Amino acid sequence: MTDQVLAYLTENRQQLLERLERFLSIPSVSTDSTYQQEMRMAAAFVEEYLQEIGFEHTEIMETAGHPLVYGAYEQAGKDVPTVLFYGHYDVQPADPLEEWESEPFAPEVRGDRLYARGASDDKGQVFMHLAVWEAFMNTAGKLPVNVKVCIEGEEEIGSENLYQVLEEKKEKFSADFVVISDSGMVAENQPTILYGLKGFTGLEMTVKGPEQDLHSGLYGGAVRNPVMALSHILASMKDESEVVTVDGFYDNAVEMTEEERELIKKTAGENYLETTGVSETVSEKGYTAKEHTMGRPTLEVNGMYGGYQGEGTKTIIPASATAKITCRLVPGQDPEEIQTLLKQHIEKKAPKGVEVDVQMEKLSAKAYMVDPTHPLIQKAAACYEKAFGKETAFVRMGGSIPVVEGFDALYQVPVILLGFGTPEDRLHSPNESFPLDSFDKGMETLVYYYEEVSK
Ligand SMILES: [Zn+2]
Repeated sequence: MTDQVLAYLTENRQQLLERLERFLSIPSVSTDSTYQQEMRMAAAFVEEYLQEIGFEHTEIMETAGHPLVYGAYEQAGKDVPTVLFYGHYDVQPADPLEEWESEPFAPEVRGDRLYARGASDDKGQVFMHLAVWEAFMNTAGKLPVNVKVCIEGEEEIGSENLYQVLEEKKEKFSADFVVISDSGMVAENQPTILYGLKGFTGLEMTVKGPEQDLHSGLYGGAVRNPVMALSHILASMKDESEVVTVDGFYDNAVEMTEEERELIKKTAGENYLETTGVSETVSEKGYTAKEHTMGRPTLEVNGMYGGYQGEGTKTIIPASATAKITCRLVPGQDPEEIQTLLKQHIEKKAPKGVEVDVQMEKLSAKAYMVDPTHPLIQKAAACYEKAFGKETAFVRMGGSIPVVEGFDALYQVPVILLGFGTPEDRLHSPNESFPLDSFDKGMETLVYYYEEVSK
């Protein structure tokens, strides 16, 4: 059967690409209210496609913001699992328009890439699943697994209304596992399994001294300087070998296994010197930079301000100083617990003569990780390999994808990230594109995967 499904995709490649181009032509920019009509058009495009494929239940679910497209195909039977596929039909604004070589909403193939806003993030990747389901239906007459679909229109603006819908209709969306294609591979034509994401937390601290800025000659020597006090506190949080020196920070952090460190070593990674322009990388004592970004927690000062910032000199003792700190967390670390540890540390280190006010960051998320040896992951790796003809790389990412943690927290089922984008796709930037090679090999991977997980 597999051969017929693949043959269908090859024979209908041109029509499929044209249909994808129609999807990409709809300017579904979620952040800009002038595109409300287009948002509905994009949602309707997805729903119509699902209906045509043969999903027996489809629905445009209204939310407080943009609608969400739901679909259910449950005719594959009770013996096979149910997959929840998540994606988004909204895109980032196309600005600055003058930097585009072709119109952002008039898709164009140039060389071996398809250029359009949303080509990679995420319409192009959503479309690949739709096309694969179409191919199964028109050859095998059915899908190998039961499929539920959740395609939202608010991913680019923080998925504001998604979780409420998921919570209210938990049963409707429930599945044995979740599949998301909204990420990338470490390099073009290098199949990649992203099996871990970092968590996130942070705080803002303000060190307060005198009631107003003071003359440094009259009061220097009598009054503590808040900028200096802030610097002392910050400097006490991490040592020179990049080890966070906040008590308890690492206590619950799950260690990378030796196998993982081997996997990371084998992964062709970014050349940090080239991409960042620094002369030397630094990383936590005992870990390489790649290991640290992927699998060890970090603490960074994102910004600090206080005192006179203008031209020339102003001889003052500033009244206050502020710093913003965020941490990227690994599995085992609880964001709220980390916030408390940071706060305790700050209070302990605050010198006499100043007061410190700590505001906790509200956006916190736990890290997500699925065991790389999990059968659903191993199957994915094998399918990638078969389609791309290359060994699959396993990576964890220093960033966070909040929706992954959201699904994990709500359903406690594995979330499988099958990304086909490449580092050259220019997500959110002018001239976004997607390699046609990823389009073809990605769909091939999905054909294998949907069949493999039905076994
Ligand atoms: Zn996306």
